[in-house]
Parts: sequence; structure tokens; C-alpha cells
Amino acid sequence: MISEKMMEFVKSSSVIRAMFEEGKRLADIHGAENVYDFSLGNPSVEPPQEVKEALLQVINEENPNLVHGYMNNSGFEDVRESIATSINSKFETSFNSGNIIMTVGAAGGLNVILKTLLNPGDEVITFAPFFGEYRNYVSNYDGKLVVISPNTVDFQPNLEEVEEKITAKTKAVIINTPNNPTGVIYSEATIKALASILEKKQGEYKTSIYLISDEPYRELAYDGVEVPYLTKYYRNTIVGYSYSKSLSLPGERIGYLVIPNEIDSFKDVVAAANVATRILGFVNAPSLIQRAVAKCLDAKVDLDIYNRNRELLYNSLISYGYQCVKPQGAFYLFIKALEEDDKAFCNAAKKYNILIVPGSSFGCPGYCRIAYCVNYDMIERALPGFKKLAEDYGL
Ligand code: PLP
Repeated sequence: MISEKMMEFVKSSSVIRAMFEEGKRLADIHGAENVYDFSLGNPSVEPPQEVKEALLQVINEENPNLVHGYMNNSGFEDVRESIATSINSKFETSFNSGNIIMTVGAAGGLNVILKTLLNPGDEVITFAPFFGEYRNYVSNYDGKLVVISPNTVDFQPNLEEVEEKITAKTKAVIINTPNNPTGVIYSEATIKALASILEKKQGEYKTSIYLISDEPYRELAYDGVEVPYLTKYYRNTIVGYSYSKSLSLPGERIGYLVIPNEIDSFKDVVAAANVATRILGFVNAPSLIQRAVAKCLDAKVDLDIYNRNRELLYNSLISYGYQCVKPQGAFYLFIKALEEDDKAFCNAAKKYNILIVPGSSFGCPGYCRIAYCVNYDMIERALPGFKKLAEDYGL
């Protein structure tokens, strides 16, 4: 018999599994080219050429025992130093290798930092809509996820509510910008206002409230919009970065945490995060890809490809009558469902072989996520279905 907690996790992951099964079923009936799967955030753009060259260079030119061996739990010193230097040059910060811990993607980084920080019953705040896995990650360490209700006007965080919901037990706040599922980038004004609320509440409760910035989509910002670097706005910030989307390497499982010197209990947090990396079973982030990404810190996937998808899909859906805040980043559109029940609406979309994810999976019922990290021509082929779907609802 499996653990009761795992039973709950298995039950709640059934939506995605059901979607996957449904995709397969529809592809068997209609042919894969006639099924429009917008359900997954799996990058469609190829990794930049620099990644391949870097991997070959590491394999051909570096000492195999060093490349493939065990290392410090935090990762290769020279890789961490290069990453720190690169962040400093982009954001005028002053990090060094001691502030960087290499992680198994953003997911690994979040688990390491939550294990580091949480006592049972500690509260972690996040803003709906949010990446559904946060619920599981917080639960892994017996924390309690406190969800702030969505601000559906522009999907910036609802700051009034966060101020009310911070308690003496609030240990961390997780934010994700550019955001999955809305594609919205939190403005500098929002970040400043959130920082001042957190400062005030820390003072009031005499606690440390860590702001965890989950940033797998940092590099995916369009129209020149800036994504504020949060350590500059709030002292107790920890950044979780990932190369999954910026270099299209989600299967390679590589990212890092930035733990600034200025945070409360800096030395303890770094020591505990190292131990957490080990005892969660990661031991260290994968070595070959650590060495490779350090050689292409300025490389990026071709954003024009995602941007073309974004423009086509957004402009077409708006012209059919759908409502959606235009995303400035990531590769998701978050549309208002055309009926109250978002699950029923996603089911209705299947009539046209369109697979999209209900907003309730992100704590925001009444909406649906469309992942546009797909081929442009698939979007073109799917558009008549989106149009007919809108017409079915009288638009
Ligand atoms: N955080 C958010 C908001 C995500 O959307 C994802 C993946 O889609 C992750 C974390 C996990 O990313 P990684 O593949 O780097 O573990």
C-alpha cells in the first residue's frame, strides 16, 4: 500500500494524465496532424547552436574524471563563479560563487529551498493563478500553501489580500514572473509595493519572510519589457532560475539558486541548502550540462519564433471575441472560458481536437491556459476550430 500522502498526489495529477491520454486517443482517431495539443509547456524552439558546441567542447577537451565525477553539492566552483559574474554584469549585483547553488532545474531549486526553510505548519504564500506543483512542493515539507485570489483585471498580484494573509507563520512568498499560466510580467511598481508590505510585516511579526522568485521564464519577455531583478528590491529574496525554457533544455534538468549575502541567516541557509541538495537525493546538479551552460551564458533561444506564435494566436482569438490579457512573456495565453465551468469549456474545445488546460489547475477557475510553444502551422490549423468554438457560444 502506498503512502496516504502519495495517494493524494496521484489523484491530483490525474488532470494532466487524462489530458495526455485524451491527446493520444484523439490522435489515433483523427491522425496526429489533426489534433491541436496546447496543453504542455514543453519548448518547441530548438536549443541554440552554442549549447551543442559547448557540450562537444566539454566532452572533447575537458578532463573526463572532473567532468563526470562527484563534486561539491552546490556544483562546480568555476561554473558558479561564471554564473555570478554574468548576473552581476546584467543586473548590477555583486554575487560570487558562494551565492550560487546549482540545481536540478527550477523544480529542484524550489524543493531545495523549501526543505531548507520550512518547519511543519509554516505558511507559504503564492498568487493565483500559479504553477500547480507549488502545492505539492510545499506539502513535501509539511508546509501550508496560502493562495491569494487572482486579480483578473490585469493578473498583477492582489496586494491588498496578501497584506491581510501574512501571519506570524508566513515563512515565504513565491512569485513567478513572467508568469505561468498568464504570461504577465509583474511591474516594477508591483514589486516595490510587495517588497514594502513584506518589510512592514517582517517588522510587525519580528520574523523573516523570504521572497522566492521562481524564474524559469526570465529570458522570455517580448516587446523589450524589463523583468525586474528582485534581489534589488527586497533584501530577503532568493532567486530560482532554470535553463529549461531559456535554452530549451527541460530534460537536462539544470538551473540554480541565488542566495544573496544580505538575507537573514545567510550562512545557515547556504549550509542547509547544500545538505538539502544531498539528502533530497540530487547530490549535485547534473555535471555535464553544468559545464556546458557555463559556456553559453549569453545564449538564448530564438524568441522571434515564440513571438510570432503569440501575435498570431492572440490577435486571432481576440478577433473571434475571446477575452485575454495580452501576455508580455513566457509562452502561455490565459483566456476567459466562454462558460463559467472552465473544465466543461476545455471539454467543449475537444470537439475541435483542441487540448487546453482548465484554469482551476492553476487556482483560477473560469479561465484556460493555451501553451503556444508549438509549431506555427499547428496554430494556423487550429484557428478555424477556435473560431467555431467561439461561435458555438454565440460570439
Ligand atoms: N516553475 C514554473 C512556473 C514552471 O512553469 C515550471 C515548468 O514548467 C517549473 C517551475 C519547473 O521548471 P524546471 O523544468 O526548470 O524544473
